[in-house]
Amino acid sequence: MTDTIITRFPPSPTGYLHVGGARTALFNWLYARKTGGKFILRIEDTDILRSTEESVRAIFEGLEWLGIDWDEGPFYQTKRFDIYKKYLDQLLAEEKAYCCTCSAEEVETMREKARAEGRNPMYDGTCRHKKLPPQPGAVVRLLTPDTGSTRIDDVVKGPIAIPNTEIDDFILCRSDGVYTYNFAVVIDDLTMHISHVIRGDDHVSNTPKQILIYEALNAPVPKFGHVPMVLGPDRTRLSKRHGALGVMEYKKMGFLPEALLNYLVRLGWSHGDQEFFTIEDMKELFTLEAIGRSPGVFDVDKLTALNAEHMQKKSPAELLPLLLEQMTALGIPHGPEDPRLPAIIALLQPRSKTLVEMAQQAESFFVDPTSYCEVAAKKNFKGGSVDVLKKIEEKLMTAEEDSLEAMEALLQSVCDEMDLKLGKVGGPLRVALTGKGQSPGMGETLALLGKERSLPRIRAAIAHLETF
Ligand code: GLU
Repeated sequence: MTDTIITRFPPSPTGYLHVGGARTALFNWLYARKTGGKFILRIEDTDILRSTEESVRAIFEGLEWLGIDWDEGPFYQTKRFDIYKKYLDQLLAEEKAYCCTCSAEEVETMREKARAEGRNPMYDGTCRHKKLPPQPGAVVRLLTPDTGSTRIDDVVKGPIAIPNTEIDDFILCRSDGVYTYNFAVVIDDLTMHISHVIRGDDHVSNTPKQILIYEALNAPVPKFGHVPMVLGPDRTRLSKRHGALGVMEYKKMGFLPEALLNYLVRLGWSHGDQEFFTIEDMKELFTLEAIGRSPGVFDVDKLTALNAEHMQKKSPAELLPLLLEQMTALGIPHGPEDPRLPAIIALLQPRSKTLVEMAQQAESFFVDPTSYCEVAAKKNFKGGSVDVLKKIEEKLMTAEEDSLEAMEALLQSVCDEMDLKLGKVGGPLRVALTGKGQSPGMGETLALLGKERSLPRIRAAIAHLETF
């Protein structure tokens, strides 16, 4: 092992990048970035039936969107069989591993027998000392110790000791020549000089087996840290049934990548009672010691609140391309070069918790309402609304400018002349201009829509009111 910190993220490409995997990647990436180390991406594609190209692409896409970059790789396990073979041959030559020709049925019988005797179901070592030569149909097993225990100094969970009697001579290479996860992962971690293996605690039962492989190879054992799982609100392991799992779905829902990272880093790690972290903060403050031992519960409301905060901290110029992308994705027409965009964003920023909310509110500035929200119309289009709208129309037609100040003065003069409170004027105007019951202030909306876009909308509402 070298002194440099080298971490890795080795997803199995059997689906998209889900939030649990993203958090594992994040912890490893942050630790490498914090320590000036290296972060390696490895694709664990030995499960040929379940691995797909599409999933590999989805994993890259997810990592790229999150901004998690890697220093080496991607390495593919299916391209590394020669390396695994070299180490397997070494273990066979040193009689630390052996060929086994027991059939699947025979092994099942052994496991049944162990179960019936109240022991862990295990392979019983039948072929251990037969010195069988490699042959078609044989698997290769590690010769594991019968006494003592294997110890993990887990950086998250603390020391764990597993009696070696609970570990059978497990398979390193299957009869079809495909290496098992436990063997391939150790040879990769060893040859890539991984110093720290930080992964979900669903792998904790594999770790003693992996340590026994390192020991059989007289190789240094990396440090292990097993991070508690991410749970759903019902405190069962987070799964599809809890809603969105793939990180790109969070992009679609209008979350910023830094907000999702901020949320994920807090889900299992803490720094005092600080909740808001920029990516730079995370890189500076992250430590393995502060990873918690209890599982985090995924809470989309908390993520949304953090997202709102991250949206506030961005400048309109930073949000602009993200908003346009979101509007395009939602099919909301927009003028990409529209000079009003920075002002629209500045107006909507404090009112939007996600980019989707911002895009939906921005729609009114680009598209005439095609219908009026029923509830809003019922509440605001009343007897007298036509007169209010006609008064606004009349004043707007003769207005010389449509600045914010001019529009606010115009609305105030309508209130004064008709002896109405601002709400009675703003209510029907809001529905006329946006079709909705909620929007930014009417002065701002009129100013940003401008006279030319506002007048036809007001006239359409008058016509609507006079018809119904
Ligand atoms: N390919 C494994 C997974 O996706 C990686 C486990 C590990 O980190 O060793 O769960």
